[in-house]
Amino acid sequence: MLVSAPLAGSVRVPAGGSRPDVGAHQVLSVSGESDGADAPGPVLDPAGRGVAAFRRGILGLQAVLRPLPWRQTRAPWPVMVSEVMLQQTQASRVVGPWVDFVAQFPDPGTCAAAPTGAVVRAWAGLGYNRRAVRLRAAAAAMVERHASQVPADLHDLLALPGIGPYTARAVLAFAYEQDVAVVDTNVRRVLSRSVLGRRAAPGELQALADALVPPGRGWAWNQGILELGATVCTSRAPRCERCPLERHCQWRAAGRPDPDPAAGTPVQAPFDGSDRQGRGRLVQRLRAGPLAAGTLAAAAGWPDDPERAERVAGMLLADGLAVRDSSGALRLA
Ligand code: SF4
Repeated sequence: MLVSAPLAGSVRVPAGGSRPDVGAHQVLSVSGESDGADAPGPVLDPAGRGVAAFRRGILGLQAVLRPLPWRQTRAPWPVMVSEVMLQQTQASRVVGPWVDFVAQFPDPGTCAAAPTGAVVRAWAGLGYNRRAVRLRAAAAAMVERHASQVPADLHDLLALPGIGPYTARAVLAFAYEQDVAVVDTNVRRVLSRSVLGRRAAPGELQALADALVPPGRGWAWNQGILELGATVCTSRAPRCERCPLERHCQWRAAGRPDPDPAAGTPVQAPFDGSDRQGRGRLVQRLRAGPLAAGTLAAAAGWPDDPERAERVAGMLLADGLAVRDSSGALRLA
C-alpha cells in the first residue's frame, strides 16, 4: 500500500474539457481484457500479454494518490501552471506557490498582462526562474492565438513558448482527460523496468506508454504511473514488495540484475557553488528591488568574483528576467 501524505491547499473543481483524439495506441495489442491477467510470473511483455492486469495495478493507485491540489481541478490554466512548476521542483515545494500563483494569475490573460517582474516575484521559492518568463510568454501567445484559452490540441500546445512534449501531454491528460501518455523520468523508469526489462530510447518508451493508456482512463492512468515512479519504483531503492506491478515486472522477475534498466538517467550537477546558485541569489535579491551597479558580486554570493557575477547577470538579461536601467542598476523586467 502506498503512503498517502495530506498536503495543504484546495481549489475549486471546474468541469472537464473536450477530448479530441491525438492518435495514441500504436504499439501493443491492448484491446483484450482477458489476456492472462492471473497467470503467475511476469505476464506483461511487448507482445501485449498481461496488459489488463498491468493496467489494473496502475489504475488501483488512484485510491491512494497524494491529495495534491492540482489533482482536484481540471481547469486547463492551473493544470498547465502546476506542470511547469513541477518540471524541476518537488511536489511538496510546489503546493504553496501554486495556490498563490493561480490566485494572483487565474487565467492566461492576467498572467500575460502582468509585468515579467511580477510573474517572477510570484515564482519565489521554486527556483529555475526562467520558467516564469516562459510561462508568461506562453500566456501571451494563448491570448494572441487562442482567445486566452489553453489549447486542447497537441500541436497547438507544442507551438507555445516553453511548452515541451511532457508539459503538452500533461495538459492534455490532466486538464482535458485525453488518452495520451505522459512520460517523464519516473514513467521511463517504471516502464523500462517492468515492461521491457531493459533500457530503451525515448521514442520507444513514448510509443509504449501511449499504447498502454486504457481508453477513457488517461487521467487516472497517468496520475497512477507517475505516483508509482515517484513513491515506490524509485531510482535508488525500488520497493518491489509494495508495488502493484510486482508480479508483472520483468526486471523483478529476473532478480533485478545489473545493469538496472533505469540506469543512465541524467544526474543533476551539484547546486552548491554553481552558477545556478548565484543566479538564484540574484533573482531572489531582485525580488526586493533593483541592485545598484557594483553590488552584484555580493548579492550573488561571490564577493571576490565580480566577473562571474556580471556573467550570470548577463544571462538574466538574455533570458528576459532582468533589465538594466540608465544608471546601470539591475532590476526585474
Ligand atoms: S516491481 Fe519493483 S522494479 Fe518492478 S515496477 Fe515495481 S517497484 Fe519497480
